[in-house]
Amino acid sequence: MINVTKAYLPPFEEYTAILKRAWDNAWITNNGELVQELEAKLKNYLQVDNLLFTSNGTVPLQMALKVFNLTGEVITTPFSYVATTNVILWEGCKPVFVDIDPQTFCINATKIEAAITPATQAILATHVYGIPCDVEAIEIIAKKHGLKVIYDAAHAFGVKYKGKSLLSYGDISTCSFHATKLFHTGEGGCIIANDAAVVHQLMLYRQFGHVGEDYFSEGINAKNSEFHAAMGLCILPDIEKIITARKILILNYLSAFKNTHLLSPVSCIDNNTKWNYSYFPVLFENEQLLLAVKKSLEDKKIFTRRYFYPALNSLSFLKNAASCPIAENASARVLALPLYYDLPLDIQDQITELIIKMVI
Ligand SMILES: *Cc1c(COP(=O)(O)O)cnc(C)c1O
Repeated sequence: MINVTKAYLPPFEEYTAILKRAWDNAWITNNGELVQELEAKLKNYLQVDNLLFTSNGTVPLQMALKVFNLTGEVITTPFSYVATTNVILWEGCKPVFVDIDPQTFCINATKIEAAITPATQAILATHVYGIPCDVEAIEIIAKKHGLKVIYDAAHAFGVKYKGKSLLSYGDISTCSFHATKLFHTGEGGCIIANDAAVVHQLMLYRQFGHVGEDYFSEGINAKNSEFHAAMGLCILPDIEKIITARKILILNYLSAFKNTHLLSPVSCIDNNTKWNYSYFPVLFENEQLLLAVKKSLEDKKIFTRRYFYPALNSLSFLKNAASCPIAENASARVLALPLYYDLPLDIQDQITELIIKMVI
């Protein structure tokens, strides 16, 4: 069976060798030695000043909304994982959807201002597939209207934009280290903020709002364990190797589809961006064709993923969400193809041959 993604796993002995340090200390969570070491190494690799390792990539988004006391409208993208919308609802705010740019699949910055009302407090946007949002335009709009900018950067691990970590743009960025992501710790994530007071409050939120016997604020449990940190410490040294393998696969996909009408949103990435090769989404002419291709691959036990589908503005449990025709259209036609470190090249050939046969 070939899945759309597969967790990269280090040799078992490498994992247990690192884990042994936690064992010897009999200290397995609560900001242990391995968590601290992972945070330091991630700050260095990602070139960010502050970073907190968290339980996943969703709770830090909630903490981001909380730390800015957001209670009103949050402008957001309809093309992301459902977590992006869920956290807005979960924190009692109202998601206001602004359609995406047809090239980048990220929120269309030129359409944001029309959606701003007196109740708007923030913009929560996703760097889809690691493709940067229009961070400069968003910053200008946010400054002009006094809005906070939060990026769901779950896909953006290691991406650089204009020479700077993409994770350092906006007031807060969050990343996911879920097992299916480019860099993972099994479950895990991080939150990055630029303002020291915000970082301090996020640190408190992560551990129930208290330090020892001093209780400062409300909080949640967003800590992560030494078991997860050990996985990260094993995988981080291999990250360039992982990215290079995925780059080769993506270049293969692109060259295989060159003479078809198939497009990929990742083709829009230009020289301003040092990309991370996190996903390979492909856009079919229509939904029927996508479904037929998906089914034919499944018959061969090859699994793709409609990533993302449905457009979040069309979630059944939302009330009165604006229509977003570009996102709805893209969601109906986009399919993520298998991509992971050791995807065999002959399997990739099977995938591209089958697809090419069906689309030309
Ligand atoms: C994976 C993902 C999340 C959720 O991250 P978890 O670590 O699974 O909580 C949020 N947003 C996007 C865009 C994602 O891809």
